[in-house]
Amino acid sequence: MRAFSYDRPDNVDAALRGVAGQPGTTTEAAVKFVAGGTNLLDLMKADVMRPERLVDISRLGLDRIEEIGDSGGDGGLRLGALARNADTAYDERVQTRYPMLSKAILAGASAQLRNMATNGGNLLQRTRCYYFYDTGTPCNKREPGTGCGALTGVNRIHAILGASDHCIAVHPSDMCVALAALEAVVRVSGPKGERIIPFADFHRLPGDTPHIDSTLAADELITAIDLPAEGFAKHSTYLKVRDRASYAFALVSVAAALEMDGQTIRTARLALGGVAHKPWRDPAAEAELAGKPASLETFAEAARVLLHDAKGQSHNAFKIGLAERAIVRALAEAAGVEHP
Ligand SMILES: Cc1cc2nc3c(=O)[nH]c(=O)nc-3n(C[C@H](O)[C@H](O)[C@H](O)COP(=O)(O)OP(=O)(O)OC[C@H]3O[C@@H](n4cnc5c(N)ncnc54)[C@H](O)[C@@H]3O)c2cc1C
Repeated sequence: MRAFSYDRPDNVDAALRGVAGQPGTTTEAAVKFVAGGTNLLDLMKADVMRPERLVDISRLGLDRIEEIGDSGGDGGLRLGALARNADTAYDERVQTRYPMLSKAILAGASAQLRNMATNGGNLLQRTRCYYFYDTGTPCNKREPGTGCGALTGVNRIHAILGASDHCIAVHPSDMCVALAALEAVVRVSGPKGERIIPFADFHRLPGDTPHIDSTLAADELITAIDLPAEGFAKHSTYLKVRDRASYAFALVSVAAALEMDGQTIRTARLALGGVAHKPWRDPAAEAELAGKPASLETFAEAARVLLHDAKGQSHNAFKIGLAERAIVRALAEAAGVEHP
């Protein structure tokens, strides 16, 4: 592990001063925030990330979960960036109004990690691509311009949608898949004040700059994640398919949320994890579901639409069929339709 300096400010303004003046996006920054440290410190020990300075944000007091507005429960919920993943998943309001999110968080990592990991850190956790972690191999995400070891190597866990010739890594978060389906927004503070980033615009596809994971600037701090009022509590689920029953990242995961009119689907949200460089949504697949009867045939057609352009690599073509089946199963569970 390389030497680095360390600060622990006790307010947001001081934390922002700590990263002020850095150009580019947060992934490229030399001065990094550290929250729970469950991802960043691992990456520093493995020499994958080499920040010169850490600004510890654990004392900023951004750990509250609170109602948005004063409407007593129907104005949405604000999740503090420093609220722990476990506290978020077990919050009664999250469990009741956003059960898909609670389920997604609890599908991730282990109890110990969820007690330490924060919501802001979860959004910015980095890929689990083996080549990104192995500093002896080429990786355009770790060292731009060196090539992609996964393209010709072992790529069982890699992307089937939205990949590029430069990177086929996937985003590893479970929580983010549910947040994408909920259309959460990310609240950010920076030198120009506050701004909000719609969840769909927060993470990015690799293109020819796969070293950049998100649109967060290097001098910005995530302060909260806002959940909209609609939580799809009646008809939603999160399904995670993985190699082990716990403590494993998703091969494929699906957040499915429906608004139903009897047995007819009024609107649908579908987000996939483990398949792309960001949580994957496809408006055409969601449109395919709207107005249709909730049936296995309807779900299978939506899955076909969503995976129409999916492309397997040498070891992961199985993920296309797996994703199709997972979509059907998740939608059936969300709609209360019996699934064989
Ligand atoms: C063994 C293991 C298994 C895991 N399994 C899963 C899994 O199955 N599913 C899953 O979803 N996750 C899994 N995780 C990942 C875990 O969820 C993340 O490590 C965790 O959410 C990161 O949060 P943190 O607070 O510890 O972030 P940190 O490690 O402190 O930070 C991560 C990144 O976020 C930045 N950051 C943190 N907070 C802010 C902020 N407020 N504003 C701006 N930047 C910020 C940091 O600069 C850093 O770049 C696993 C982790 C481990 C170690």
